[in-house]
Amino acid sequence: PLVLGIETSCDETGVGIVRGRTLLANTIASSMDEHARYGGVVPEVAARAHLESMRPTIEQAVAEAGIELQDLDAIAVTCGPGLAGALMVGVAAAKALAVSLDKPLYAVNHLVGHVGADLLQGEGLRPAVGGVGELELPTVALLVSGGHTSLLLVRDLVSDVEMLGETIDDAAGEAFDKVARLLGLPYPGGPQIDRVAAEGDPKAIRFPRGLTHAKDLERHRYDFSFSGLKTSVARWVEKKRDEGGEVPIADVAASFREAVVDVLLTKALAACADLGVPRLLLGGGVVANARLREVATERARAAGIELRVPPLSLCTDNGAMIASIGAQLVAAGHAPSGLAFGADSTLPATQIQVR
Ligand code: ATP
Ligand code: MG
Ligand code: FE
Repeated sequence: PLVLGIETSCDETGVGIVRGRTLLANTIASSMDEHARYGGVVPEVAARAHLESMRPTIEQAVAEAGIELQDLDAIAVTCGPGLAGALMVGVAAAKALAVSLDKPLYAVNHLVGHVGADLLQGEGLRPAVGGVGELELPTVALLVSGGHTSLLLVRDLVSDVEMLGETIDDAAGEAFDKVARLLGLPYPGGPQIDRVAAEGDPKAIRFPRGLTHAKDLERHRYDFSFSGLKTSVARWVEKKRDEGGEVPIADVAASFREAVVDVLLTKALAACADLGVPRLLLGGGVVANARLREVATERARAAGIELRVPPLSLCTDNGAMIASIGAQLVAAGHAPSGLAFGADSTLPATQIQVR
């Protein structure tokens, strides 16, 4: 099926067009620059930017795919989780498009969309890690971005997704952004920390690994916490400055990055082992982190687990991944969502489609 997907859960206005698993267009307008001076995504600013970018982004995607809107079999849209005001813009646009074209509309879960990115094939698209080919199921999926840090068990993309755990405070990307800020590095912090850390010693400072102690594991085996780590880095830096010493930024960045990567992969691979699932899929913007991919590759190989990382262009938020899930829902014969659904900022990953 030919499906157009709209994504507006955070700061990317994404419109993607797919034919089944074939990617035809993936157009993204980001308001990231507008958030830079605030050090994080400002919901109202993001929502307004979506409103301004929506039409041109749709037009550009349609032109790139070389299709006519009338040829679409369906429209898919992210209805949650994400920023409420931002989601609403995408949902309204998708409804308007569906009504005006008289096409079925599918309301799709953003987190499941990140997994759907792995299905897509196209010219020049190469997976960041792992081979091209069928995504075998079940798989454990670790989704890490500025807004979420979630561990899922995916048995079926259109009917069976289980939530194993998630962050109980900051998302991993958010921690990168906050630590970068306290080190005086510009927003977004992830790429900056990555760059600076390359010159540092990851073993220089032993920062805490949240929710990894025996007493935490009982209730939070697959959950994450990064706010304690962030506070620990802040205290360490403060103390160094109070002592009149120079802050070894590269070592702090490398040690912080190591702590994040360690806890993410320890938990994800524990889930694979516990559940007997020999596959791990990574997704979300933090996958751009070089050290995360490196350690993931090493540890997955050692544990005999197949690691898959979609092309990085499909790891950050985009409309194609939403279209991909839309196409799966159409192909599986699922009924469309109708027009009564609304944006749901806290939609759980278990709810793949909203009606
Ligand atoms: P959502 O949470 O809805 O997916 P988002 O816009 O917060 O949306 P992405 O756009 O997927 O998420 O990713 C942005 C986040 O990824 C930022 O927090 C950024 O700092 C982080 N990031 C980007 N590159 C790197 C990197 N090399 N290392 C670590 N973090 C990175
Ligand atoms: Mg983003
Ligand atoms: Fe996302």
